[in-house]
Amino acid sequence: MLIKNGNVIIFENDDVVVKKLDIKIKGEFIDKIAENIEQEEAEKVIDASNKVVMPGLINTHAHIAMSIFRGTFEGCDLYTWLNKKIWPIEAKLTEEQVYDASMLSIAEMISTGTTCVNDHYFFSEKIRDALTKSNMRAVITRVLMDNDGEEASNSRVNEFIHLYETRDVNNELITYTVSPHGLYTCSDKVLEIARRLAIKYDLPIHVHFLESVSEIEDIKRLHGNTATQVLKKYFDGIHTILAHGVKLNDEDIEILKTMDCGIVHNPISNFRLGCKIADVTKYIRKGINVALGTDGQGSGNNLDMFETMKIAALAQGGIHENEERIDSKEIIKMATINGAKLLGLENKIGSIEVGKKADIIIVDISPKLENIKMIPNNDIISNLVYNTEGKNVDTSLINGNIVMENRNMKFIDIEKIISKFAK
Ligand SMILES: [Zn+2]
Repeated sequence: MLIKNGNVIIFENDDVVVKKLDIKIKGEFIDKIAENIEQEEAEKVIDASNKVVMPGLINTHAHIAMSIFRGTFEGCDLYTWLNKKIWPIEAKLTEEQVYDASMLSIAEMISTGTTCVNDHYFFSEKIRDALTKSNMRAVITRVLMDNDGEEASNSRVNEFIHLYETRDVNNELITYTVSPHGLYTCSDKVLEIARRLAIKYDLPIHVHFLESVSEIEDIKRLHGNTATQVLKKYFDGIHTILAHGVKLNDEDIEILKTMDCGIVHNPISNFRLGCKIADVTKYIRKGINVALGTDGQGSGNNLDMFETMKIAALAQGGIHENEERIDSKEIIKMATINGAKLLGLENKIGSIEVGKKADIIIVDISPKLENIKMIPNNDIISNLVYNTEGKNVDTSLINGNIVMENRNMKFIDIEKIISKFAK
C-alpha cells in the first residue's frame, strides 16, 4: 500500500516536523518513507493530498465498556458517583451489554483517530472479543479490588488469570496489564497478589493513582503510608502506568523518578469530576513520561483524543502564567510516542518510522467549509491540537489493515450498534 502526497508528522530528534512524504506499507510494517515513491510499487494507493498523515493516537487510560454510562455524572463528586451510580449499575451489567458497549466505544475510537487503547475493566473476555472482531490494538486487563470483600476479590483474581491464560499468543494486537483498581480500593493483600502476577507473567501494572484529594488520607488509613511509598513498596522494579497523578507533590515526583513509571493525564475527566488539574508541565520538565487518556465516557464524556489534546494544552495555561508550559508539539508526542513508551510498545508503534507497525491516521485538513477553523493553515501542528476534531479523521490503519476508509468502518457494523443503543 502507498500513502502519497501527505503532510507527514515525523519525530526528528526532539522536534516534531511536517514533511511532504510518501509512505509505503508492506503487510503490517512501514517499509519505506521517501519524497517520491513510484505508484507501480503498490497494489493500493491512497491519495493524501491536503491531508495530514500521522501516527495513530494512543489512549492510555480508558474503560471502554463505559460508553453505557455517558451522561450519568451530573451533580456528583467522584466518590458519590462511584458508590451511588457506577458500582451499583456495574454489578448488574450483563456480558452482552459489555460487548455492545465496547463495540460502540471501539467505533468511537477508530472514527476519531485512536488506534490503540489501554483498557481497565471487567467482563474482559467480551471486551477482547469486540476488540478482536474490530482489528483494534489494545492493552487489556481484569481489574482487581477488594473494598467489597474477600470472596469477590478472589473471583476477580481468578478471572484475570483465566483471561491471561486463554490469550491467543498469535494475536499480538492484544497485550495485557495487571490492574489493581487503586491503592484506596485494594488492601495490602491484593496489592501483593498484583505484584506477584506482574512478575510471574512479566506484565506492567496499570492503576488509578492520586486522582482526588480524598484518596491521600484514605490510602494512609488503609496502608499506613503515603500513596507514593505504598506504590514503591509493591511495584518498584515493575513498569507501572499511573492513571491521573493529579495530586503529586515534589517529594512524590522525586520518588516516582526512581521508579519505572509514567503518568496518564486525563484532563477532561479530572475537570469533570472536580479533581483540579495535574501540573504535567512540571512532571515533564522533571523527566517523567506523560501520555494522554480520556478515562471512561461516564466522567470523560467521549473518547475523542483530539478534544483531549486541546484541553490538555489549554489546561496548563490555567496554572502557568508564562511560556514555559508545554506546547503543541509536546501535546502531539503525549498522544502518540509518549503513549507508546508508557505502554511498553515504543518499538512497534507511536511514530511513523521504517520498521514500525503501520498504525497510521489520515486527517482531512483540506480548505473547505467543514474545515473553516483551519483556514488559513499557517501552522499544521497548532491546527491539529486546537482546531481539529476526531471527525476530521478520514482514514485509519491498524497493523497495516485499513479499519476505516473515507469514514467507512471496515470491520464494524455501525448501523447495527447505533440502532441497538437507540432502542
Ligand atoms: Zn479511570
